[in-house]
Amino acid sequence: MVKVDISLVVPVFNEDEVIAKTHDRLIKVIDSLELSFELIYVNDGSRDATASIIRSFCSSDKRVKMISFSRNFGHQTAITAGMDHAAGAAIIIIDADLQDPPELIPKMLDLWQQGYQVVYGRRISRRGETWFKRTTAKFYYRTLKRLTDVSIPVDVGDFRLIDACVRDALLKVPEHNRYVRGLISWLGYKQTFVDYVRDPRQAGNSKYPLSKMLRLAADGITSFSYKPLKLGISIGLLLSAFSLVLAFAVFISRLFDLVWMEPGYASMMCVILFFFGVVLIILGIMGEYIARIFEEVKDRPLYIICDKEGSFQQPSREKSVDTESTLPVDQA
Ligand code: UDP
Ligand code: MG
Repeated sequence: MVKVDISLVVPVFNEDEVIAKTHDRLIKVIDSLELSFELIYVNDGSRDATASIIRSFCSSDKRVKMISFSRNFGHQTAITAGMDHAAGAAIIIIDADLQDPPELIPKMLDLWQQGYQVVYGRRISRRGETWFKRTTAKFYYRTLKRLTDVSIPVDVGDFRLIDACVRDALLKVPEHNRYVRGLISWLGYKQTFVDYVRDPRQAGNSKYPLSKMLRLAADGITSFSYKPLKLGISIGLLLSAFSLVLAFAVFISRLFDLVWMEPGYASMMCVILFFFGVVLIILGIMGEYIARIFEEVKDRPLYIICDKEGSFQQPSREKSVDTESTLPVDQA
């Protein structure tokens, strides 16, 4: 077996427009360093030419490998599978769209060699992202920080380096609703940051539509905070107190014949609808948690691998399925 110093993990989902460019830039950085690398692409159920392009990289360069899922399992699961299979003493996760500059890798490796086990890429600014995405991301990371007890760093994404020992610890975390950046903060270890400017996506469109983004955001909060569940108690107590005050005011006004509140159907409807809304929102929050508990209890495999390109030294995690189809994935 060839000894691997560093594993690069790249999740890909329908990235045929950008993957060749990304590959070139990654190889340039790898070749400039005196370390042995493996480059693991995790094909998260791509339906375009991504798999065949990567397969051609694999056949011309033995350092390049690919894991293909049987369908789209999502970005967080893809990076989990990549880390699970990485053989390097350090593992670097990087997006396929060149939003995270590969040229930062040597700086991350420097910090790792200085003894840090987790090196996060921290976005100091996001060029080329919409106002909506920038604002919601900023608001979300700060809300998450306020809600959770685990100190999840603000403005870090999934561009990071972890030592193999952190990955080994992560293998022991079986949860299905994975918010990997939170899990890594939760694990602890010696952590640091490198700041960078997030570039615009180099080609293709974002593979994170609003629905996936909301799901990831909800996973982040529900995995690390119980505070939303307690919202019902606080609102309930507040409303009960308010209703007592109101009842007292009504009683006094009747006693002294003061007319200060006209009976009104419209205003009544507003109040009723508002509070029904509040009750349903709280039920919905509970539903979010219950759905996640249900998913964890079912304990299905985290991902299903249908094809692998290249040899992997690291076995899959216990809760995953590894079956290789005889057909190439593009035809399967
Ligand atoms: N990705 C993935 N599975 C998905 C969605 C995205 O593997 O279901 C990959 C995608 O190919 C890219 C990375 O995750 O390499 C980040 O996705 P994207 O750049 O579309 O997200 P954004 O930067 O817009 O948040
Ligand atoms: Mg991107």
